[in-house]
Amino acid sequence: MKFLSVLLTLLALAAHAVALDREAFTFTNYQLNVRVEPEQQRLGVRGAITLRNDSAAPQKTAALQISSSLAWRAIKVDGKPVQYVTQPLHSDIDHTGALSEAVVTLPRSVPPKSTIELEIGYEGQIPQDATRLTQIGTPGETATHSDWDQISPAFTALRGIGYVAWYPIATEPAGLSDGPAVFDAVARWKSREAAGRMHFDVCQTGPADTMPLTAMNDRPRGVGSLSSLPGPNTSPDITRCAGYEFAPLGATTPILVIGNLTQSGKGALSIYHLSEHKPEAESWLKASELIAPFVSGWLGAARTQAQVVDLPDPQAAPFESGAMMLTPLKSANDIGTTAIVHLLAHASLDSPRPWIYEGVAHFIEAVYAESLSGRKQVLDVLSAHRADLVAGENTAAEKTQPASMRALGTTFDETLYRAKAPAVWWMLRDMLGDDALKKALAAYQPAEDKDAAYMQHLLEAQSKRDLGWFFDDWVYHDRGLPDFAVASVFVSRNDQGYLATVTVQNAGDAAAEVPVTLRFQGDATTKRVEIRAKSNAVVRMQVNGAPQQVVVNDGSVPESDVSNNTYEVR
Ligand SMILES: [Zn+2]
Repeated sequence: MKFLSVLLTLLALAAHAVALDREAFTFTNYQLNVRVEPEQQRLGVRGAITLRNDSAAPQKTAALQISSSLAWRAIKVDGKPVQYVTQPLHSDIDHTGALSEAVVTLPRSVPPKSTIELEIGYEGQIPQDATRLTQIGTPGETATHSDWDQISPAFTALRGIGYVAWYPIATEPAGLSDGPAVFDAVARWKSREAAGRMHFDVCQTGPADTMPLTAMNDRPRGVGSLSSLPGPNTSPDITRCAGYEFAPLGATTPILVIGNLTQSGKGALSIYHLSEHKPEAESWLKASELIAPFVSGWLGAARTQAQVVDLPDPQAAPFESGAMMLTPLKSANDIGTTAIVHLLAHASLDSPRPWIYEGVAHFIEAVYAESLSGRKQVLDVLSAHRADLVAGENTAAEKTQPASMRALGTTFDETLYRAKAPAVWWMLRDMLGDDALKKALAAYQPAEDKDAAYMQHLLEAQSKRDLGWFFDDWVYHDRGLPDFAVASVFVSRNDQGYLATVTVQNAGDAAAEVPVTLRFQGDATTKRVEIRAKSNAVVRMQVNGAPQQVVVNDGSVPESDVSNNTYEVR
């Protein structure tokens, strides 16, 4: 009898598990009060979250997940406790390699497109933990330089989804040993959450004069308020809360930082640094004052201060999200200026679309590098960084991601928005010129960006050029990369010298405008030509010396095979 009841319970749980669609709900709103006790390495969270059923079926259960080092304390709907079962769930979305999952039985079935609000409470410790990395064989020390998130008396930094689930999420479990599964799950979550709102009130209690600083990478239109409440009469302690708002969240991963840090910088950059790193902080500030006019020349005035946070582990891997970067602070001369350009770009241009937000920031890095060392060197660097993109595009067909997740305009896939998007911006600049591009970017309003074609229309208005064919192949769909080759070169002599008729071929599925260079005795000349997918184009070039060589693509257009781009003229 006992055995039978155990069996029935197990069967019931199994049936439950089969029915659970973990990604049915989108979390549209978070209103969380986060109480942090660094001495105890603890946090306690109370608040409310709103879930919208984005699946096609009514939902009676919801999954809520937090890091496995945290525990659920209360879940209520309409002020009444609801039934939930908690279970550990193996998933490398979190640094511990597991999540505490609450499977909540909702008091009513939620129809598609409807919402439900849950009051929630959870708490626990967040020590440093690199289990998910050591489990797959990463040496311990390397792993801790990467998974540095923790609450500790000296320094607290929590990065959220993909690192530590310190706010509730809901994802299908994913393992690091399973190819790109973790990155795909994070990308799916971010694309669902991009329009959502998150509000955190971060509170600490302690003596006012020694209370560590708190900071978050909240969006420029956030409310960063600071309030102090007196503690119990007998103690000199006070409770201090700061409010941070991410609305909309966009591609940003909220980062919470608390530490005994010194804040420096009133201009383009704000630095939170260890007291012993004052000289390094000053070198960053000096560099940022030099770079700021370049960035604002492209993207307009900064709308917020960029933030840099000093990581105490000198070998910690840097991380950036929103206009905040966490990095062990070395002199700006040692790290180069790239990171500063990138951060200042984020502080100027906001967008809910990663291909614009991150793509433009990486593009501005390349334009800045070009201003220092010239076009050729930048194209060499861009080409070198393209290995990932080419590999990714070549295996794109095998990917299980839906088309909307592969299209640049809507993707949250990091390889696409960090490697492909800057190349797309570079091509647009070569096609339209600096002026048209600057004006279009200046006219861009993130709040107006409701339609995928909004950016195309801004660029067309400035350049008076039809860009539908380009956006179709690069932004609205993932058509992979072009593959150019010089098919033939025909040379004839005439009164002015030589006329070269060059046939260029594009064997790929993406159209592009590409430069074709003819080297001839004593000089070279270049013409740009539009070549549609699986098509040929003919370029005629009149020169006054004997043609020697034709090269298609100077590295400014990403392509799948560059081995067939040079043609020797005999
Ligand atoms: Zn960035």
